[in-house]
Amino acid sequence: MANTAEYIWFNGEMMPWGDAKVHVLTHAMHYGTSVFEGIRCYDTPKGPAVFRHKEHMDRLLNSAKIYRFPIPYNSDELMETCRETLRANKLRSAYIRPLAFVGNVGLGVCPPEGTEMEVIVAAFPWGSYLGEEALESGVDAMISSWHRAAPNTIPTAAKAGGNYLSSLLVGGEARRHGYAEGIALSVDGYLSEGAGENLFVVRGNILSTPPTTSAILPGITRDSVMTLAAELGYEVREENIAREALYLADEIFMTGTAAEIVPVRSVDRITIGEGKRGPITEAIQSAYFGLFNGTTEDKWGWLDYVYPE
Ligand code: PMP
Repeated sequence: MANTAEYIWFNGEMMPWGDAKVHVLTHAMHYGTSVFEGIRCYDTPKGPAVFRHKEHMDRLLNSAKIYRFPIPYNSDELMETCRETLRANKLRSAYIRPLAFVGNVGLGVCPPEGTEMEVIVAAFPWGSYLGEEALESGVDAMISSWHRAAPNTIPTAAKAGGNYLSSLLVGGEARRHGYAEGIALSVDGYLSEGAGENLFVVRGNILSTPPTTSAILPGITRDSVMTLAAELGYEVREENIAREALYLADEIFMTGTAAEIVPVRSVDRITIGEGKRGPITEAIQSAYFGLFNGTTEDKWGWLDYVYPE
């Protein structure tokens, strides 16, 4: 079933969900000219709070900057729009989807100079992307036969609509073969990321994650986990990771706003570690979810309260 809520914000107006429509000649539908975010609001003991709201909005603006598409709102305005959308829909926990796109400006790949993007913000209830059960039991993943885009082709630091054709190939192939998720390598054969998640490989007390040069989206959950892991006393490394290092890992987990923190119990049918969630993954999960249930102190000001006192 489609994700729904009562209202959606569209170009400055809060309107009924069903009224937020575009023309079939919308540029973004033809050429993938959109940038977007996926953000979560959690129902914390101090009220609903948007996680790392500012970082998500800054990434949205940076995605647009890479493509030289002006977004007619700044980060603060976009954040207030998200809070308003949550309030209008009376949501306490939600997935938030801000999207900026090139509208019906006529065909031709390059939009007219100075074309401003249209902007929507949707918010709706959405459970963990790979399923609640996966958070504990872990998932089976495969290395995709599809690679990520080469450097200087499609920039992976931009969270742009068109990039998700790559994710569709990676994730779709995996699902057709009976796996929960696909993992892609970069063109030089190092680990890159999951179809919609970053990756962490654990060996001993060391957590390794592919660097931004391995065609990844610089994930905000990835950044949060790196901070929390260092706080818990683990060594964290951003480094090139070979495919076989996955098979020999003690633990692997994936991170993303939608997926949250998901253990990987096998890759290409090779059992990882004990074949179930490992102790370090569990410690990281509990530090992460602790931010939302109040057991981890938010030392970094990562929570943006929807109803400030
Ligand atoms: N990589 C890709 C391709 C993604 O789509 C996502 C989800 N936005 C991530 C990584 C994880 O990023 P984040 O933690 O910021 O949600």
